[in-house]
Amino acid sequence: MAWGARTKRRVGVMGGTFDPVHHGHLVAASEVLESFSLDEVIFVPTGEQPFKEDRDVTQAEHRYLMTVVATASNPRFTVSRLEIDRPGKTYTIDTLRELRVQLPDTELFFITGADVLPQILTWKDADELWSLAHFIGVTRPGHELDVSGLPEAGVSLLEVPAMAISSTDCRERVAAGKPVWYLVPDGVVQYIAKYGLYRKGPAKVDDFSRPTSRRRANARAQDSMTLPPRTVGAGK
Ligand code: ATP
Ligand code: MG
Repeated sequence: MAWGARTKRRVGVMGGTFDPVHHGHLVAASEVLESFSLDEVIFVPTGEQPFKEDRDVTQAEHRYLMTVVATASNPRFTVSRLEIDRPGKTYTIDTLRELRVQLPDTELFFITGADVLPQILTWKDADELWSLAHFIGVTRPGHELDVSGLPEAGVSLLEVPAMAISSTDCRERVAAGKPVWYLVPDGVVQYIAKYGLYRKGPAKVDDFSRPTSRRRANARAQDSMTLPPRTVGAGK
């Protein structure tokens, strides 16, 4: 694909709930980075979500931290707090507008899976999205890459290694006591265990909505409860 002479930085934007982040997300971002010669991919965990009101989404701070853990080893991956720190509902258009201001002289590439692509036309201010970023639809097992209705010039498609992984499946596996090793990065497995995320019943620590002093006290109590060697080795 000819994108002309490189005068601007190219930055990918990978939006998602990341509840939890998994290897499907990471492979998609990595493939787009490589194929479109991007300088960086910014993962943007959603804040409050207009399209996921049917279920309880895990606290944004947990989703953000799991994404930080998952991407920490890749110098070209970063994570933005832009959406989780924004009060109210999350809309991609607002994020792209803000990134355009924060990142002048940058071409933005919004990365999205085949399941999300057909929804774009229903997004807030959809007509304006194409002027803010180029959209890249990546293949996802079980979903057709359907670009009908989307502007041809605004969207590119990319086949990525098929990873039949979803966050929904990861959450269900944890709730059923099944392992998520190798579906999500090791650090994310450990993070989920440490905070008791996705288990049935109350989470071990539900502390990000509490004042910082209580959160610290809780974290100290939590540290003493965590047994890394056993937790790390279990089910591997
Ligand atoms: P959930 O099951 O909770 O909807 P998810 O696995 O779909 O979670 P999201 O956070 O909703 O993950 O997805 C973020 C983005 O990553 C979306 O554009 C989605 O299409 C894409 N994506 C998620 N999983 C894959 C995968 N296995 N392969 C390719 N793209 C993916
Ligand atoms: Mg999804």
